[in-house]
Amino acid sequence: MQLIRQTLAAWRRTRFSVKFTSVIVVACLLISLVPLWIAQLNTNDEAKDRAADKVGVAGNLIAGQLSSLSSFIQGVARQIDASRDLPNPELVRATLAQDAAVNPFGDVLGVIDPDGRVVSVQGTLTLTRADPIISVLTAAVPKGAHVAPATDGQPWLVEDAAVPNSTATAFVGRPLSAQLATAIGSNLATAADPADFTVIGTDERFAIDGRIAGLTVSMGDKPFAQLASVLSGRSASVVTVGTRDFAVATAQLGPAFRLVVTTPVDVVATPLQPLILLIALIVALVAVIVVMVQFSLQRPLRRLDRAVAGLGKNEFDVPVPTGPDNELGRLGETFEKMRRELQTQMKATRTRAAIATALSTSRPLEETLSEVCTELRTSTGVDAVMILVNESEMNDPFAIFEGVRDVDVDALLKGTGPIGEGYRQSMMGALMLGAAPASLEAHLGMRDFCVAPLRLAEHLHGVLAVARSESEMDETDADLVVGTAEQLALALERSRFLASVKRQASMDDLTGLYNHRFLVDYLGQQVALAERLNTSLAILMIDIDHFKVLNDSLGHQAGDVALAAFAQTLVSSVRRSDLAARYGGEEFAVVMANTSAEEARLVAEKIRLALADSIIELEPGAPLTLTVSVGGAAFPEDTESARELLTLADEALYRAKRTGRDRTCMAGDVRARIKPKVARMRDAGVIDVESNVGAGGRHRPAQ
Ligand code: GH3
Ligand code: MG
Ligand code: MG
Repeated sequence: MQLIRQTLAAWRRTRFSVKFTSVIVVACLLISLVPLWIAQLNTNDEAKDRAADKVGVAGNLIAGQLSSLSSFIQGVARQIDASRDLPNPELVRATLAQDAAVNPFGDVLGVIDPDGRVVSVQGTLTLTRADPIISVLTAAVPKGAHVAPATDGQPWLVEDAAVPNSTATAFVGRPLSAQLATAIGSNLATAADPADFTVIGTDERFAIDGRIAGLTVSMGDKPFAQLASVLSGRSASVVTVGTRDFAVATAQLGPAFRLVVTTPVDVVATPLQPLILLIALIVALVAVIVVMVQFSLQRPLRRLDRAVAGLGKNEFDVPVPTGPDNELGRLGETFEKMRRELQTQMKATRTRAAIATALSTSRPLEETLSEVCTELRTSTGVDAVMILVNESEMNDPFAIFEGVRDVDVDALLKGTGPIGEGYRQSMMGALMLGAAPASLEAHLGMRDFCVAPLRLAEHLHGVLAVARSESEMDETDADLVVGTAEQLALALERSRFLASVKRQASMDDLTGLYNHRFLVDYLGQQVALAERLNTSLAILMIDIDHFKVLNDSLGHQAGDVALAAFAQTLVSSVRRSDLAARYGGEEFAVVMANTSAEEARLVAEKIRLALADSIIELEPGAPLTLTVSVGGAAFPEDTESARELLTLADEALYRAKRTGRDRTCMAGDVRARIKPKVARMRDAGVIDVESNVGAGGRHRPAQ
């Protein structure tokens, strides 16, 4: 049981090709052996038929012997004159001796007279009643037996006839000797169809000397085991003697004997040539089937198996073999389609992940958008990728693109081409459109577009467009474009939010100008830039005159309004590229790149005059007049170190205050005159010039 289970388990584990080959080999063996076995059975049956025929012939020959003996004894009986011969035994004996002389078989002739006396001869010999054979024969005659066993077991053929005109009986007995058996046997066999013949007695021993199944046997011997086992059978059998098969058939001879005939099976064998041809044909056909299966089934199956195993290991780049248009080919096609879809999905997933990673970094927005363009173009294989970002309070409109030369953001967003349509569409998802020949998009050299708006909730940030110059877009492109657009919208929203937070942190709430911290950072950058590039840089420090008085007289709130009003005047008096900031309290600063001292003075005057012209109405009919004092300095005219600018401007402002307020003083105006004075004050501890640079604290002692 254990063995069966192990064998079944091993069979289940065996590869299909091995199983198939095993089954084919077994089938081939069966197909070859069964006809051989059937042929062998036919040969055996034929041999048994031949043996049965031969034993029948032997029986007939013996019957013929009995018949001739019967005729012979009747002739003998007629020769005997009942009245003359019977009373005289000598005369009977003489007649018998005369007849016996012509008989060559050792026959025994005899007469039983009415008185029961017996006269008998064998050849020239006179046999007495006491002779054992006479007893056997005289016992057989009254019973009408035609075959009788002699005392030594040998069979005798017995016939009798009545002596005319008397109750005497003449009889003849002929021994079924080895010689007679040989004669019978020779009638059964030919050179091409040999046979052996013998007789078996009731004691199951050979009754005569002779040959059987090719072996010499002697009277009284027991038959060898194989033969003995089939002797009692009614039908013929096949036994193996040595290395040869013999058919054995028996027939009853009287009550005490059986005739036995053997004939070799192999002498008349079924012709094997056609059979072998048939088997060769079958084997060839099976070989053709094996080769066909190997080429049409197993090899494609193995290739399919390898390819599908590759898919299992995430190897999506190796195509699945498809093959011809049959079941396997179609199976391969299905797997190939599945592989392509998976490959596309994996690629799209990788692209999404790469884009998400790029957008989540803290690098500048333009840089990450550019990376997204590259990633999208590589993974989809499109010819162009464009990210168009619209104008907002945080940025001017701009575009990041790949695969096209130049992009007019405003024109494209407002246009009626695919990009404009996609930008304005309110539906979710991407729009797939072809570019009309006259459209701006067509002039970019692109034919087919897939466009998705960069929208997050109600905020529309711009549009993402991918384009092909030759082929058309497909659904996979659209999916990726939609996914990327969502991520881009999120990134732009975040970027704008961060910019707005950053800006708020840099602004002064009251005036809307940049605050002190931003001014310090900005000034630091501009100073470094001016020194590196050796360009001019000017700074103005502005302080509202007698602001404390205003505060004290009109209140702090009125002071605030005045501060905000001045800020407006300040902003409108400087260039867009100049930076105006609230330095602290009622003090302001303007940083101007690429500006000389003289230009700076003009700006200062412009501010001062603009303030003089402006009317600040705290209450209707109660205008307020403000004046400011301005101190200015410029690099490189006033100092070799741009870092000293703030100090110099502060000193100039100090001079403006000291010399009567509502005026502008530049560092260069009175450098020679003022410097010793400032130095004296510093030495006396009245001012602390060092603490003014980049610091947010007071920069001048109270006056
Ligand atoms: P000077 O001409 O010498 O500059 O005189 P001043 O009064 O302007 O200078 P001072 O430094 O003595 O006074 C500045 C005043 O500005 C004191 C302070 O109360 C007022 N101030 C500072 N920041 C604010 C503010 O944000 N709002 C208001 N309303 N007042 C402010
Ligand atoms: Mg002040
Ligand atoms: Mg002041």
